Amino acid sequence: MEKILVFGHKNPDTDAICSSLVMADLQTKIRGEEVISCRLGNLNEETKYALNYFKVKEPKLIEKVDEGQRVILVDHNEFTQSVEGIEKAKIEAVVDHHRINNFQTSEPLFYYAQPVGCTSTILFEEFKTSGIEIEKTEAILMASAIISDTLLLKSPTTTDHDRKALEELEKIGVDKTQIEKIITFIQIDGTNDDKLLKLENLNFENETFKLGLQELKEVVKNMRLFGIPENNFNVDLTIARGLDYYTGTVYETFLNDYRELRKCMLWWKI
Ligand code: MN
Ligand code: MN
Repeated sequence: MEKILVFGHKNPDTDAICSSLVMADLQTKIRGEEVISCRLGNLNEETKYALNYFKVKEPKLIEKVDEGQRVILVDHNEFTQSVEGIEKAKIEAVVDHHRINNFQTSEPLFYYAQPVGCTSTILFEEFKTSGIEIEKTEAILMASAIISDTLLLKSPTTTDHDRKALEELEKIGVDKTQIEKIITFIQIDGTNDDKLLKLENLNFENETFKLGLQELKEVVKNMRLFGIPENNFNVDLTIARGLDYYTGTVYETFLNDYRELRKCMLWWKI
């Protein structure tokens, strides 16, 4: 029989990759048969940095699965975010922290869902429940995913489960300062010019990164040309969107002086 494949969503982030690696490990131990970690796209810079830094081999790239292929989904459940052929695959398990949508199976399965900040937090708790010892590499991968998904426990999605998991993982010998380096990218702060300069100094040899940085500089330059005061705009590197229909710079607008408009905007959102 074909081996079971574990993967996260398309356009993978650090959680999708790290959770797939750890879940493959955990399932291999539990099932006593080799479970393979896969990915549905290229690694982003943050994940690449993390895996290189900790010398962890990246999961295998797959584009589709055959009918009846046994699979495990992590960090997603929606078929639109999953692999080609998922409708006819045999989904053995799901570990996820997102809403459940556009998902169905013809057979019973294990479904681990919790409204927490990261899939790896759920995995951490699974290790605890099953009494399986967490190895150092697994701890590093889970901690990286948690730090990334919760923006160092600062995102509004962070829960006590995530805090507890990270605290415990650090005790297993994870050097938090090392992992924090991974998200240098997100942590970059200062004035708009500081941020652009720091991004430049990262010297990432990646075409998408270079193009994105070029575009961001162009946006800032043009805002100044239009006479928009420096206090009224802010380069925010935490506004990252993983979905492929975002094709460039993402904008968020705050109308602080027009609070009455907020109501209209909420309606509009519905
Ligand atoms: Mn994700
Ligand atoms: Mn996630």
